[in-house]
Amino acid sequence: MILKNNEYFIQDFKISDLAIEYGSPLYVYDGNVIEEKVRRLKNAFSEINMKIKYACKANTNISILKLMKNLGVELDVVSPQELQLGLIAGFLPDNITFTSSGVGFDEIEDSVENGVIVNIDNLPTLEKFGKKYGNSQPVLIRIRPNVEGGGNQKISTGHKDSKFGIAIEQVDQILALQQKYDLNIVGIHQHTGSDIKDGSTFVEVANVVFEFAKSFKNLKYIDLGGGFKVPYKKGDHETDMEDLGEKLSAAFKKFCEEYGKDLELWFEPGKYLVSECGILLATANVVKENPGKTLIGLNTGLNHLIRPMMYDAYHKVINVSNTSENLQKYNVVGYICETDDIAKDRSLSAASDGDIFAILNAGAYGFTMASNYNSRLKPAEVLIYKNQKYLIRERQTLQDIINKQILIDFNYET
Ligand SMILES: *Cc1c(COP(=O)(O)O)cnc(C)c1O
Repeated sequence: MILKNNEYFIQDFKISDLAIEYGSPLYVYDGNVIEEKVRRLKNAFSEINMKIKYACKANTNISILKLMKNLGVELDVVSPQELQLGLIAGFLPDNITFTSSGVGFDEIEDSVENGVIVNIDNLPTLEKFGKKYGNSQPVLIRIRPNVEGGGNQKISTGHKDSKFGIAIEQVDQILALQQKYDLNIVGIHQHTGSDIKDGSTFVEVANVVFEFAKSFKNLKYIDLGGGFKVPYKKGDHETDMEDLGEKLSAAFKKFCEEYGKDLELWFEPGKYLVSECGILLATANVVKENPGKTLIGLNTGLNHLIRPMMYDAYHKVINVSNTSENLQKYNVVGYICETDDIAKDRSLSAASDGDIFAILNAGAYGFTMASNYNSRLKPAEVLIYKNQKYLIRERQTLQDIINKQILIDFNYET
């Protein structure tokens, strides 16, 4: 979003006009921002053979997936449904990875049948895989490097007590299964967590993975997962991509030399690619003077954006209708019938009923985590790319909530 003559814009479109045209609440994504993120990540790793596998659970709108494909990005999926969305968006099975986390074996089979490579995160499943497929299908192994990373306990996945991956201490068991079934292990994967602040965590993890990988002879890929940190507010730390690219590329080249072969390095960014591209627009239903703090009640809430309540995530909020410097302190809350904080104790331009608010960093884990709680409808989504605007999902209707319900009439005498 940019501010020009007291109006906020995305490219040439006035935010306030978008809210009028499509109504609110409304998710709006800036495709140019996604393009810039992809470019920056590719540039940072231009020295090595790096592939971006977009972790699409962050935002699975099919038009976003198609844009990613157009930008030369590949896909990481975590469910059969995401896999199908990827295929619908036009990705080739070869360009999709199914990263499983304790899924049923039928989902592994589904993935193989679709020609999509799987990433296995536990020994019993690896054994089943070996029994069924032997060396006929390539496979990646998800390991747990026992490194602490991630901005919040709920999004930290690489530490010793995490449910994710096969513990690196179990390398001998993996090798035994490889021998028993002649497994074609082509890649080692790890994902340490989300919102990893410190680039050195990536390098530390990479070195653990590289060391581990040396026990496997037929590798083609090293997959270091996602988790790059994005800024949420002014002065916030973000992963320094150029610096990380330089350090990791050097470490990777050295590893390839020692390994005796040039491998591909994969990343699976979700948030990094789409968090900053998105805003959630909402309208103030009520501005409520309270003896402590004035509340702004929006026509959205944890049903549309659960991150503040789930992870204590910080989302910057802007009053789009009033750009004056006359700031006041507010708590911004949602309309769901339970505690529903969106932003606490913020200095915002004076608010009135009907003002339009933009909640920033809403492109990742926004719509994909939205629900119909309180039987409210999910918002519409709009994509703006190269100065064109596209409605990429209609607002839900009541019918969407009723669909699939089977109505039973009870005519019992009471
Ligand atoms: C969620 C997830 C990612 C993406 O994490 P971000 O923090 O959004 O970059 C990558 N890989 C796997 C396996 C994931 O589960």
